[in-house]
Amino acid sequence: MPPKSFVSVHALSGGHLTLPERFFVSPIDDESARSTVPSLSFLVEHRSLETGRLTRIIFDLGIRKRLQDYPADIYRHVMTRQPVSGEPDTVVSLARGGLSPTDIDAIIFSHLHWDHIGTPSDYPYSAYVVGPGAASLIDGSKKSAAGGHNHFESGLLDPQRLIELSRPGLAPGLGVVKDPDFANFKQYFNQPWQRLHRFEAAMDIFGDGSVYIINAPGHLDGHINLLCHVDEKRYIYLAGDAFHDARLLSGEKEIATWDDPVYPGVTCCIHVDKVAAARTISIIRDTVRDPGELGSVEVVFAHDPRWQQTGKNSGRFFPGAL
Ligand SMILES: [Zn+2]
Repeated sequence: MPPKSFVSVHALSGGHLTLPERFFVSPIDDESARSTVPSLSFLVEHRSLETGRLTRIIFDLGIRKRLQDYPADIYRHVMTRQPVSGEPDTVVSLARGGLSPTDIDAIIFSHLHWDHIGTPSDYPYSAYVVGPGAASLIDGSKKSAAGGHNHFESGLLDPQRLIELSRPGLAPGLGVVKDPDFANFKQYFNQPWQRLHRFEAAMDIFGDGSVYIINAPGHLDGHINLLCHVDEKRYIYLAGDAFHDARLLSGEKEIATWDDPVYPGVTCCIHVDKVAAARTISIIRDTVRDPGELGSVEVVFAHDPRWQQTGKNSGRFFPGAL
């Protein structure tokens, strides 16, 4: 049997924002409850046992450092999430461990909502990887769904460096890749989707079982998660915005909906497909409860307020590790 490959996973700060509880969980006791939450990003470091090549990937870039640089329609929504800040951002977080954006091979975006996109242009040489169907949100070809959070920045990602994953069920084939400089790199993201444990579509990007992109539909077109094998018996599951409150994972709460204040009669949900989102959550929940051959799976979602506040995870921020 070939030796097993593992990766190291390091939390990075990506600023913070404030979420009104009524948009996320149901039922709620207090209509006006709000909580200030982090927007977590992560550095994943992989060294190939075969070639020795070190690859560094960032999962999500958090909130933009200069909020005023968001387009006007996004900025208006950002201001409804105060207190909100894009600092410290991923660039500062990397520097704490002696790295700079030029050390980063790829940025995988869980999805393209404003609080996960940061400032992509800070990373001049990185590939940008998005899930199936996400590219159409930023190339102007798709109309936004209802809800103030669903505004997207046209031209956000340099198309020369953009890699859009294929849809599960279709033959491997990259949606968008134009620059031949990425020939070496793009192969990682051109793997077939396969079933893995309870996950219906997982992509083993390095081909050694160390990092899987998990198709996690529901929150937004192209929403993806990362399953990282950190040691013999332990996986870290980076859940992005599959859910925004630990009580949704435990099953104590349901996904919320609300009436659109601008378009009467339109029901909004923080997820574009509530049914798919609920299914994604239940798969993650079942995996945590019964990880089987995976050993143990720790789930970290992007906006977990307790993760940062309790202090017990402070040593897991880069250069510390999960
Ligand atoms: Zn988010």
